[in-house]
Amino acid sequence: MAHSSAIELLSRLVGFNTVSSRSNLEAIDFIKAYLAGFGVESIIIPDATGTKANLFATIGPADRPGYVLSGHTDVVPVAGQEWSRDPFNMWRDGDRLHGRGTSDMKGFIACALAGVPAMLKEPLAAPIHFALSYDEEVGCLGVHGIIDHMAKTLPQQLAVFVGEPTGMGVVGGHKGSAGLLTTVTGKACHSSRPDLGVNAIFHAMDLMGELRSYANELRSAPETGSPFEVPYTTVSVGVVQGGTARNAIPGDCAFQWDIRATSGGVVETLVERFRTFSDGKVVPAMKEGFADSSVVTNIAYDVPPFVPHVGSHAETLAKRFAGRNEVTAVNYGSEAGIFQSAGMSTIICGPGRDSEAHITDEWITVEQLERCVGFIDRLIDHARHA
Ligand SMILES: [Zn+2]
Repeated sequence: MAHSSAIELLSRLVGFNTVSSRSNLEAIDFIKAYLAGFGVESIIIPDATGTKANLFATIGPADRPGYVLSGHTDVVPVAGQEWSRDPFNMWRDGDRLHGRGTSDMKGFIACALAGVPAMLKEPLAAPIHFALSYDEEVGCLGVHGIIDHMAKTLPQQLAVFVGEPTGMGVVGGHKGSAGLLTTVTGKACHSSRPDLGVNAIFHAMDLMGELRSYANELRSAPETGSPFEVPYTTVSVGVVQGGTARNAIPGDCAFQWDIRATSGGVVETLVERFRTFSDGKVVPAMKEGFADSSVVTNIAYDVPPFVPHVGSHAETLAKRFAGRNEVTAVNYGSEAGIFQSAGMSTIICGPGRDSEAHITDEWITVEQLERCVGFIDRLIDHARHA
């Protein structure tokens, strides 16, 4: 398989502005038409609004267990970044291909799609599936629709390859990523009469202090043998909003917080502990001043950790296809933990590097695409005989 077709496809894919806040349907239509050109049918799984969709397609005998190539079609925003050229019009500079999504992760999708002719050339003994999602960058929302579809219609798969940028290294684990929003409602009044109101910011400070104590506690007890660079679960507050004026007691305060968990169940435990503190200590104190005071905590998203499974089928295959011996863990989240939670042997391996993604003038090297094309070629060869 020539990497030139991967470059060509990447250029087309970068041309669709699929920042997560926008529709990805033009990109999905393009991929659908590309596959249809080879007689491959796509299953489109739309979101509730109909403005975004997943694409799932299969080459080979769908009734048998097979291999999944997983990628997300959305990209992170370019707002606030000073790009030297149009981020959605790929340009080449020596070995580098620049454009939003080149590394994360349209490069992988382009290599997977470039493999279609080779996949069709001779019959596959085990099928290869394309699982292309929307809204990965905003909490891995789309992929659940793909997993539901697979659970309803297909046998359990042999391995899932998530093509996030790893420099074509094999990544066997990452932390979970949960996003939470706590809304504190007290009672506003003039700052000269705080006795008549309930200061939502003051009470939010107590709640954030509680979160800070969790963060310190976790930090003081690092996990021995952890594969993660930061070997403990982290908790942080990232955004605080509240109040209207210096001389007013604020009736509202909301803060967004984040948990990066090293293992499953940690988010539930921490949220439960936080709610117990909130309901037991903070809300009763607020209600003394205003009966309708409240504290509400919502989980905006909860991407499960991708737990290392040393020697798993997906890991063994990825090491062989990538020609690598070592398996590492990364700091960013992905859809891998969601596939794994659904019982599928999963690994992350893709072209480009996370340090080259999400940045101004994001790029991928042609060398990385070549490596990925080689990886897919070896997978196809394996699927032909497996
Ligand atoms: Zn990504």
